[in-house]
Amino acid sequence: MEFLTIPHPAPTPVAKRDEALKNPGFGTLFSDHMVTIDYDEAKGGWHSASVGPREALSLDPSAAVLHYAQEIFEGLKAYKQIDGGVALFRPEANARRFNASADRLAMPHLPEELFLESIRRLVAADRDWFPSVEGGSLYLRPFMIATEAFLGVRPAKQYKFIVIASPAGSYFKGGAKAVSIWISDYTRAAPGGTGAAKCGGNYAASLVPTGQAFAMGHDQVLFLDAVERKWVEELGGMNLFFVFDDGRVVTPKLTGTILPGITRDSLITLLREEGLEVEEGMYSIDQWREDAASGKLVECMACGTAAVVTAVGTVAGPDGEFTIGAGGIGQTTARIREKLVGIQKGAVADTHGWVMKLD
Ligand SMILES: *Cc1c(COP(=O)(O)O)cnc(C)c1O
Repeated sequence: MEFLTIPHPAPTPVAKRDEALKNPGFGTLFSDHMVTIDYDEAKGGWHSASVGPREALSLDPSAAVLHYAQEIFEGLKAYKQIDGGVALFRPEANARRFNASADRLAMPHLPEELFLESIRRLVAADRDWFPSVEGGSLYLRPFMIATEAFLGVRPAKQYKFIVIASPAGSYFKGGAKAVSIWISDYTRAAPGGTGAAKCGGNYAASLVPTGQAFAMGHDQVLFLDAVERKWVEELGGMNLFFVFDDGRVVTPKLTGTILPGITRDSLITLLREEGLEVEEGMYSIDQWREDAASGKLVECMACGTAAVVTAVGTVAGPDGEFTIGAGGIGQTTARIREKLVGIQKGAVADTHGWVMKLD
């Protein structure tokens, strides 16, 4: 597909941009450009791709996304490599997952190559927007919304795909320290629901529990399964791994109510490569408490593109609080994080073909 390039009439002044890039935070600073592609069933599908200035959208007030939340998104990062180049990490996996989410939300597929091309174009347009801080990256947010003006309840016939970019520093305030999580009474996803899709609706429903966790001084919320309220599923936006003293590692299996994280999938491979026995299984909150108390559980880590790999230090709930190991960052967590970040930055050999170099 041809991409129309729309020149930016007033890019951010260089001095202002470079100042902002010294302390980007997470999700509040945005680059100058965006990619948009429109979809219209009546026009034969995807059309009118462009890369141009990041600007406000114009939507009809009856646009389907505003009423029935037909929206999906992805999250991936462009990394500055140690050789000065720029690379993406497993973007084909994001493209595939985007279409899996589209299926669940009754939205059209975006050809994977078009997804990748959009990202390449945006990173090229915003190549001067990489943060100057250690551990910084350009966070990319592809998403799709239903734009058709229509209040009936059925899948829309018109959509917009957009990619924006946000220079990002560390996800958690305070950087690389162990986080504290709160066991919520609320659930995130029920069997047969949308838990495995990356859709905004899941996040809307997680805001009250996340707000409660924050109000009580915790960093993240932990969701248990919706049926028995005992099986550990995931955090608001991160998957979990449990590391035992005998070299075993458990991560909750993908039952359809858990988001299939690309970081999760990568860690399974990296941990197995180190000789650890990784099991995708069911792990209960009671077992977790017991294993933490007995010392069998030595580490717990949370992972996702935004926060990379983070140690979970303490777990709190209505029945009290418990600590994992010494409550800090364990050896496996630190080592696997190093390795993953090393691959992403080009400092560690990419033996799995995960890194897509851009020029
Ligand atoms: C995006 C996301 C993750 C992490 O997925 P990655 O592909 O590793 O970034 C985990 N849980 C939820 C709910 C998510 O939305």
